[in-house]
Amino acid sequence: MMFCVLTRLSLYLLHTDAYKKRTKRDTMGENTTLSKKDPLEAIAAEVAICQKCPLAKTRKNAVAGEGNPDTQVMFIGEAPGYWEDIKGRPFVGDAGKFLDSLLSEIGFSREDVFIGNVLKCRPPGNREPQPSEVQACTPYLDRQIKVIQPRIIVTLGNHSTAYVFSKGGLAFTGITKVHGKFYDVSLLGMKVTVFSTFHPAAALYHPKYKQLIIEDFKLLKERLEKEGIITY
Ligand code: SF4
Repeated sequence: MMFCVLTRLSLYLLHTDAYKKRTKRDTMGENTTLSKKDPLEAIAAEVAICQKCPLAKTRKNAVAGEGNPDTQVMFIGEAPGYWEDIKGRPFVGDAGKFLDSLLSEIGFSREDVFIGNVLKCRPPGNREPQPSEVQACTPYLDRQIKVIQPRIIVTLGNHSTAYVFSKGGLAFTGITKVHGKFYDVSLLGMKVTVFSTFHPAAALYHPKYKQLIIEDFKLLKERLEKEGIITY
């Protein structure tokens, strides 16, 4: 176990160094292809051993997020749940199955997008994230966004929407008011469109939300087609 952790940490340090060097060469105008995979793996390695908040003590596995590093669409949820904590992967329970079906409806598989969370470790009993946990953990999410540089960020639920809205300088008035709308913002130094909907888990308990999420994904599909992100 310790050997595994040290190996991942060594890889992280090597990746970080390599990333900095390549970034520097890019700014100097050299024609260098910058891999997004390496820095994302470096962040995941850091998350795997993170002890920055008390959730490190109760998690089974940290869940950094996964998907296509070169995607133009990034989905951000709240935090790992029971099955995510067991498997170390995002959205693998019933809510994840619903998300997979929604992605399929708009012509994506999860390999086409990147899926992450505000918190990388499960709050006990799936309780709501505490502000101190969000503050400790979101630098990882910020770094993931900066590496991926998505054109569209889709937030799932109140917590991820509140966080992304705050980074984009938008007033968050509750998911029921802002869902299903597109907001063009400057976020972490880049131009991004933010689109919000309810968390897929909400659909499991409230049919009303399920229908709203399905309607929101139809709007998302139209926008992705219009922008040429989905082509058939
Ligand atoms: S939730 Fe985030 S900050 Fe807290 S231990 Fe996990 S990775 Fe670290």
